[in-house]
Amino acid sequence: MRRPILAANWKMHKTAEEARAFADAFLPRVADADDVDIVIAPPFTALESLAWTLRGSSVALAAQNVHPEEKGAFTGEIAPGMLQALGCRYTIVGHSERRALFGEDDAFVARKAAALLARDIRPIVCVGETLEQREADRTFDVVRGQLEGSLASVPKARAEQVVVAYEPVWAIGTGRTATPETAQEVHAFIRETLVRLFGEAADSVRIQYGGSVKPDNVDALMAQADIDGALVGGASLDPEAFARIARFETP
Ligand code: PEP
Repeated sequence: MRRPILAANWKMHKTAEEARAFADAFLPRVADADDVDIVIAPPFTALESLAWTLRGSSVALAAQNVHPEEKGAFTGEIAPGMLQALGCRYTIVGHSERRALFGEDDAFVARKAAALLARDIRPIVCVGETLEQREADRTFDVVRGQLEGSLASVPKARAEQVVVAYEPVWAIGTGRTATPETAQEVHAFIRETLVRLFGEAADSVRIQYGGSVKPDNVDALMAQADIDGALVGGASLDPEAFARIARFETP
């Protein structure tokens, strides 16, 4: 049985003070949600304040990005050890915005995932096709290639610590969610690919769906067999909406 994982990706939103205010409103709303993992990924500048506010709660801290090297001349970058020292338990890698806007490729994402695991931080590895790729019937090829490339440095024994986020690019920030059936079809394909890569361990890997997840569509998505959680952008900025998402209800 895979434990559901609901993660907030705040992108470039919220100051340290705003992050604290969010946590003050959010934590009481999820105080009894003990059967799910809840994760918040604020901007780097709010990690420390959020770490303090989350202390003593079961909500985990995450970063939105990392550099694969531990130190050196990488102006503006943040190392895995720095995130570990702040108490980050997860980090998002390979988000489509980083792939598209900052030119990150699968090989770079693979280095990040390996560097995080070496620091006992669980990578949330994002994959997903663009609208153009979906319309050209290339969804499975694209997702297969991203998984093989981005997970290339994950040893079988560590596979369970990886979270995969399937985020169709056409559904991110657009209000256009994949139907639960469309998402499940790709999630099942991802599971098959993980079986090929990691054998039995694939059954324990959690696969999140991301792309305009909201309080009113999360229940139907989470009812699907291979959807084990959600990676949430816009709706995670509001404590009430994200709390409802974290407390999804399935029949
Ligand atoms: C995301 O950025 O990972 C995301 C899924 O955003 P949104 O929920 O706003 O579509």
